[in-house]
Amino acid sequence: MTIVFSFYFLVLGLLFGSFFNVVGLRVPKREFLKRKRSYCPKCLHSLSWFDLIPLISYLFLGARCRYCKQRIPLLYPLMECTSGISFMFSYILLGFQPRLVLALLLLSLLHIIIVSDLNYMIIPDNVLGFFFVLIMVYRISVPSGSWWGSLLGASVGLIGTAMIIMLSRGGMGGGDMKLLGLVGFALGTKLLLVAFFSAIVMGAIVCSVLLRSGLISRHQPFPFGPFIAAGTLISFFSGAKMMEWYINRFFL
Ligand SMILES: [Zn+2]
Repeated sequence: MTIVFSFYFLVLGLLFGSFFNVVGLRVPKREFLKRKRSYCPKCLHSLSWFDLIPLISYLFLGARCRYCKQRIPLLYPLMECTSGISFMFSYILLGFQPRLVLALLLLSLLHIIIVSDLNYMIIPDNVLGFFFVLIMVYRISVPSGSWWGSLLGASVGLIGTAMIIMLSRGGMGGGDMKLLGLVGFALGTKLLLVAFFSAIVMGAIVCSVLLRSGLISRHQPFPFGPFIAAGTLISFFSGAKMMEWYINRFFL
């Protein structure tokens, strides 16, 4: 039965992944509700359902638009795959328990943010607001830790990042601050810190590789949202174990 449900979550993740790509691309341009049908951003031709089957359409069309032959960026099928695989692994790791809902909510939020931050360097307020409401509903329906823990996590995320923004003069943006506030609200202070430091380490590694290879210049703005997303997922799934290891190693 696990195999059947794993496959179900894989397909669900692929379908949602495709939808998250659309949300991440359209919401920052304020056209999420304006145009119902998906369209090619180059030739503006409306796409039919068989152009939009996650992953399969991309492979079948040879990574190009059917109408104008414009290349479709690899990011989109890659995000669909990541979404499918991460939905499936969330189910395998957590099973049918309430935390699975929180995992899927975080995955959805982070997926949308990666797409919009990579494309526009924006973490849209309305996406954050929408998921704040959903996470709030989750917290009300599933008692998990104290409300003070959530409020403290949110405050540490917001105030801590605001201080970093002031000290670094633009190292991070207001969107990163609000996202870390939301992560703190969802996971609490300890896991927020694990998420934040994981994001910093990954960001520093990737940034130095890109700088050395000349792909980015020193003063070029760099989207930090995808690293917060990756750090949050690491923290959600293994933050407690990482904290335990760290405390055992250095304090006991
Ligand atoms: Zn086209």
